[in-house]
Amino acid sequence: MPEHQQQLQYRDCVVIGGGPAGSAFAGIAAKHAPEASIVVLEKARFPRWRIGESTIPVANTVLRELGVYDELYNGGAIKKVGITFVWGADRVPWNADYLKIAGDGEQLGPDRTIDVLGQDLSSFSDRFEPSTMPFVGFNVERSRFDQMLLERARQFGVECREGVTVTEILRENGAVCGVRYRDDQGVEGTIATSFVLDASGLSALLTRGQRVRDPEMNNFAVYGYFSGAEWKSTLSGSRAATTIFIGSVPLGWIWYFPIGADLMSVGFVTHRRHFRDALAGRDLEQLYREALESCPEIRDLLRHATLRDDILPQQKRVGVTQDWSSWAESAVGEGWAAAGDAAVFVDPILSSGVTLALQSGYRAAYTWLTARRRPDLDARQLWQAYGDYLRGEAFSFLQLARFFYGNNRSAESWWWEAQRLLHTRGRLELAPLQAFTLATAGFFPVPRAIGLEVVAPLVGKLAAGADFSRINDDTALPVEQIALTQTLVPIGAFELAMRTEPNPKGDGLLAIYYDLICRDAELAHRIAALPSRIPPELEPVVRWMQAPILVSELVERAVTLLVTQGRPEERVRQVCLELVRRAVIKGLARLENRQLER
Ligand SMILES: Cc1cc2nc3c(=O)[nH]c(=O)nc-3n(C[C@H](O)[C@H](O)[C@H](O)COP(=O)(O)OP(=O)(O)OC[C@H]3O[C@@H](n4cnc5c(N)ncnc54)[C@H](O)[C@@H]3O)c2cc1C
Repeated sequence: MPEHQQQLQYRDCVVIGGGPAGSAFAGIAAKHAPEASIVVLEKARFPRWRIGESTIPVANTVLRELGVYDELYNGGAIKKVGITFVWGADRVPWNADYLKIAGDGEQLGPDRTIDVLGQDLSSFSDRFEPSTMPFVGFNVERSRFDQMLLERARQFGVECREGVTVTEILRENGAVCGVRYRDDQGVEGTIATSFVLDASGLSALLTRGQRVRDPEMNNFAVYGYFSGAEWKSTLSGSRAATTIFIGSVPLGWIWYFPIGADLMSVGFVTHRRHFRDALAGRDLEQLYREALESCPEIRDLLRHATLRDDILPQQKRVGVTQDWSSWAESAVGEGWAAAGDAAVFVDPILSSGVTLALQSGYRAAYTWLTARRRPDLDARQLWQAYGDYLRGEAFSFLQLARFFYGNNRSAESWWWEAQRLLHTRGRLELAPLQAFTLATAGFFPVPRAIGLEVVAPLVGKLAAGADFSRINDDTALPVEQIALTQTLVPIGAFELAMRTEPNPKGDGLLAIYYDLICRDAELAHRIAALPSRIPPELEPVVRWMQAPILVSELVERAVTLLVTQGRPEERVRQVCLELVRRAVIKGLARLENRQLER
């Protein structure tokens, strides 16, 4: 064998990429299955720079599971307690303040904790630890953050190999069965495995050929880092309210936030067409500085600041990245799954990328562990449920980002007009602050899973001071308001499918239940709305709901089917109406006051 070739090795699991998705997966999998051999192959040597420097609070569950939350919370990471938006010509700051999203908008007690529920998530409440979790995200230097996560995976016993690039995926009868790699010393090798997690970010090794790109979300980001930049408390209208500033400018938008002591991350996002035109004949730094100059809030804060050349690779002062929302048609396959950007990349306006990477790594680990320990369950269904979960989460953010771009009513430039035209789906009044804050905090399925007919009436209620604790319950559609004479009309195709949820005991296993799932990308965000546990024996009833049907007929058919299986008639009627209610609230079907034409 030549010197640069290593022997064939075997590992229970190969992870491609040691970013947040890969490290979260590997660390959590090893924590609960210390006997398993897990290897992370990471192309770079850490610490390495990365864009995407701000988490949202919903990631804290994963950071806790990995045991790094306290280090971040008590250590140097900048706490992100909210976001200040200046969106439009009126330049009035608008705070999404995570500490003020309790029902009446008051900040909670001295421990600065908050009850984030008020949703139909009672069975998942332990997972969210609403009474103990400080409601913050973190602004981080990714070089340190990613290194901390990779080290954590090592501490759990994962073999993390840096400077190793996966060069080829090996398959047998279509199923992934191993990888080939080359390290930065030129040594090549092959690892056989029964499972590969693709966490290679936008390299998307396993999903490259099946990526769908969102034509509306095709932007470029130009960014740099400053010392001596000021943070002005009045940006947010209060001393400590938020630590992120997002401001629209005539040709796009700006992010401006501290990621460390005297280190400000500042970026400009614009559409690729503008980027191409604006760059003609100028250098990148000039374009960048002009964009920052066009933002009145930050221009003065940068007066005495210095652009750093020691953060970006190759001593660059300004970097550029295409930021084009895209997703894999399927994030799972035979012998593999994808997590993080390799599965789905969503526009950065809501800072959801690292959080989605952490969440998907965590969910993939629980799925892998459950498939390993529960041979009685169908592994394909488990992975399908993982893919559905990820689509639901990611498309909620994607949908919200579209709403965001579609709602800058007061900005008058051609760029914003173009955004408004493109984002026709985004026409929603975003004024109700609490709903929006909850959505940007990543906790609230309904505003995240935006469907106009579902959310608009709710949002109207919120504006009038509605009780949050009831938003997902009877306020939306009391069961008694469903008339048997109404017709149930499906909005898109949906089915009853396995869903999973990490066991609140944190033992690495998934709890299994069944819920309504839609496969249509346009409706995927609705998967995340109102998690419901639907008895699997209702599967034929769900099938009957796929064509317009009178509610009375649906109920009678269900009674005929299920009473013969020994279910009490009254209970079947109740459950069937509840199923109708769930389908309607999730935005998968609507009720019409019309008779069916025969
Ligand atoms: C302009 C912009 C701004 C953003 N802002 C934010 C933000 O504010 N907040 C936020 O949460 N997110 C943000 N994001 C998104 C964020 O950057 C990503 O979502 C996040 O980094 C995804 O993590 P990951 O683990 O999936 O991938 P990555 O962090 O990209 O990690 C993938 C790893 O795989 C390795 N790799 C790749 N190919 C191979 C190979 N063949 N073999 C071995 N290793 C390989 C890479 O070296 C890398 O370390 C932003 C993105 C952009 C473009």
